[in-house]
Formats: sequence, structure tokens, C-alpha cells
Amino acid sequence: MTTRSPEFLRRFEEKLRAQQLLLERSMISAVKEGRQSSTDDLQDAADHAVQSYQKELLFLQGTQGHSQLAQVRAALDRLEEGTFGECLQCGEMIGEKRLEAVPWTPHCIACQEKIESGQIADPVRAA
Ligand SMILES: [Zn+2]
Repeated sequence: MTTRSPEFLRRFEEKLRAQQLLLERSMISAVKEGRQSSTDDLQDAADHAVQSYQKELLFLQGTQGHSQLAQVRAALDRLEEGTFGECLQCGEMIGEKRLEAVPWTPHCIACQEKIESGQIADPVRAA
């Protein structure tokens, strides 16, 4: 099995921890939604860009924000276990570009397509 460099893993750990924080904050603000402006809790411009993206993602996912948070936490667990970047379904290494785009993804693109087309069950969502 290919070993990812420590730099690679550290970079993704940072991404995942940032995402975890954003999700937790977004879920808290979702609870408060309607009572305050959605921009109240933005801290800086960089944060703003990421949060806007995150809000859009959460909007698209609706109530799946919680399951995404579970995926982020699971990815952090895999980082600690040393299995981060391996597809949970087939065990192949997930492409680096895909990890860059969706660091918490548990599946390679081939398996993701099979899941989305219903050819295989999604073990994460089913759990
Ligand atoms: Zn796979």
C-alpha cells in the first residue's frame, strides 16, 4: 500500500479539522437560523469564502450536514489509523485531486459513481 508523506497527511488533517469546525459551527447557526443574520459569525475574509461555500453545500445537502460531519470525523480517524486516502469500498488509493476537492470522501471516484448509480450500497450512509 502506498504511503502518503507526513506533509500530505498534515495538510489534510488541517483541512479536515477546519471542515469539522465549520460544520459544527454551521449546524449551531442552522439551529439559530431566522433569528440572526447569517453573516454575524463570520470572522474574516478567508473564513467568509469557505463558509459561503460551506453554507451552499449544507443548503444542497439539507439535513445531511450531520452525516457529512460524521464523514469528516471518520476521515480524521483514518488519518490517525494511517488508512486515510484509501477507498473504504475497494481499498485502492483515492486520487489526490479528488481528496483535494473532497478531503473527507471515503470512496474513490469509481466506487462513488457505483454508489450514486445504485450498483453498490453506500456503507457510510447505510451505517
Ligand atoms: Zn473504490
